[in-house]
Amino acid sequence: MRISVKAPAKINLTLDVLSKRADGYHEVEMVMTTVDLADRVDLTLLESDEIHLDCSASFVPVDERNHAYKAAKLLQERYGVQKGVRMYIDKQIPVAAGLGGGSSDAAAALRGLNMLWGLDLSLDELASIGAEIGSDVPFCVYGGTAFAQGRGEIVTPLGTPAPCWVVLAKPSIGVSTADVYGNLRVDKIGEHPQTEVMLQAIEAQDFWLMCHSLCNVLEEVTLSRYAQVRQIKELMVESGADGVLMSGSGPTVFALVQKQARVQRIYNALRGFVKEVYAVRMLGGSEAEVLA
Ligand code: ATP
Repeated sequence: MRISVKAPAKINLTLDVLSKRADGYHEVEMVMTTVDLADRVDLTLLESDEIHLDCSASFVPVDERNHAYKAAKLLQERYGVQKGVRMYIDKQIPVAAGLGGGSSDAAAALRGLNMLWGLDLSLDELASIGAEIGSDVPFCVYGGTAFAQGRGEIVTPLGTPAPCWVVLAKPSIGVSTADVYGNLRVDKIGEHPQTEVMLQAIEAQDFWLMCHSLCNVLEEVTLSRYAQVRQIKELMVESGADGVLMSGSGPTVFALVQKQARVQRIYNALRGFVKEVYAVRMLGGSEAEVLA
């Protein structure tokens, strides 16, 4: 038996940091949604309890450090599963980009293995196991659009935002999420998102309100250290983007665009500046998808 699961990238429409917690994590509030840039996770049932993993990107670890591997191991241990799996990740989402690729692969593995191993767990149960792997995994288990609180693991699913195009540009710099959070002074944050307004924008499917409410408190950390990220934002605005924001801890910046005719212009302007540029649709709905 073999199944394939789609693992879409996420973007942050808002990212707020409320405080630093005693356990070292930050208390966050994030509105996240999914875009049509996805890895594919193939799962083949093994009768023995071995876990094998391969990945199309040679620089991604394929051992216990891989989030999809961790997902399989956790499920096996927690539910005493005697079967195993051969996994293959077709990597399309840029790595360490702020697009949650590893988290999405883990979530896809959880959803797929739930079927492959006949565990019959609910999405809530899968999300709670996912929280042990990473703060963004629970969101990725549900997919679609959601409001995440706590360290990211308390997820409230939302409706689908106004449909639009998303142009993503990733400069070729590596940004460590831990570093960015480490350099954030919570008491010195200049502008916090109006999360309530973003929630209204999604509820009302109001594209312009969504664009005007884009805000990520980690931007000021990453922008002050990497001029290229600021330049990408400026280039996107100059070439006609309706809304622009850095996703997660960066360095990927995305533009929201309503008119298809403008997408090509923005794409072309960016291609002259960075190698990794993608023009995709916002998914936003609950598209957690098992392909076969
Ligand atoms: P987030 O926004 O959740 O912080 P990200 O997009 O910034 O995620 P990832 O692409 O998930 O970052 O990769 C972060 C690190 O996790 C990489 O350095 C990589 O070595 C490791 N990793 C573990 N599993 C995976 C995976 N399946 N795909 C990509 N990276 C993975």
